[in-house]
Amino acid sequence: MNINKVAESRVPENLNDVSFGNVFTDHIFICNYKDGKWGEGQIIPSGSVSFPPTIMAIHYGQACFEGMKAYKNDTDDVYLFRPDRNAERINASATRLAMPTFPEDEFMEALHTLVDLDRAWVPNKLGTSLYIRPVLFASESMLLARVSNEYTFCIICTVANNYYSKPLNVKIAQKYSRAAKGGVGFAKAAGNYGASFYPTQLAKEEGFDQVIWTDSVHHEFIEESGTMNVFIRINDTLITPPISERILNGVTRDSLIQIAKHKGWNVIEKRVSIHDLYEAHKDGSLKEVFGCGTAVVVNNFVNIGYPQETLALPDLPDEEKWGQIMKKELLNIQSGRADDPFGWRQMVEHKTMEV
Ligand SMILES: *Cc1c(COP(=O)(O)O)cnc(C)c1O
Repeated sequence: MNINKVAESRVPENLNDVSFGNVFTDHIFICNYKDGKWGEGQIIPSGSVSFPPTIMAIHYGQACFEGMKAYKNDTDDVYLFRPDRNAERINASATRLAMPTFPEDEFMEALHTLVDLDRAWVPNKLGTSLYIRPVLFASESMLLARVSNEYTFCIICTVANNYYSKPLNVKIAQKYSRAAKGGVGFAKAAGNYGASFYPTQLAKEEGFDQVIWTDSVHHEFIEESGTMNVFIRINDTLITPPISERILNGVTRDSLIQIAKHKGWNVIEKRVSIHDLYEAHKDGSLKEVFGCGTAVVVNNFVNIGYPQETLALPDLPDEEKWGQIMKKELLNIQSGRADDPFGWRQMVEHKTMEV
């Protein structure tokens, strides 16, 4: 791997005041695919690459990405959380979009080297992190509608502060769908996001924050919410829809299932219909509904817009919300503040000289 360091770091004095998503760390990792193979990966100053508007990703949508985080504890150790899952998943997405896979060992090496080099950018307050965005896209300059012959894989990092995740009002999708049978719902395809913005915008105009996606045929079974996996707690049973070609296999979802089992809680993977949800609300057994994903970890819902009425969820204190209890535990594991009985964390070793 080629490393071209910046002359001077731009790391802000107060990382806690940095807004999410548009301040990037000093470096990015980049690797190009051409003539049927990946070239040598490089770490270069961020902001030093540009692409023409003719690259195929923009026209035909061959683009997928990942979202993951690096955390720092009180003694400035930096950790990655289950990065092997992201290395695997970007390749599952790539395959579905007819793109070449990126070797998992090279993904891991690039990730560790980049985060090591930019470790000064990882904030260390509980709940803060460095958000890491691997992205793979068709970069051939070509307007002929066919599979691209050239690709670019990048890893970009931005500071993620403890942005307060406010409890959400969500609306059950009755018309639009995020994913269809035989489609690309399981892939972290850029186009899935593009397609979800309009229905979400309409829900916002009606006063909701987000959409609960239902199956595309009957709009009957709950699938995901926004870009999060969903959990439903009925009495003392936690239920989450099983992974399918329409439901993204979230790392947070899987981690919460394991944490819940480890605590001895009853957790099952099965389909839940909006009718089940309505009945459980009516008889008082519906305790919690929450979404989960890397960005927010866990976000409890307050109101669910059911076709005819709005279902208000019980106003439990955070100490009684299973979602919030698990969120705390997961954050403590991720950031190196608690034991990691699952072996999920990877420490980022000091190898490259920082800037
Ligand atoms: C990224 C994503 C998730 C969450 O996955 P994590 O691995 O937990 O971050 C859930 N649903 C969709 C549609 C996503 O794109």
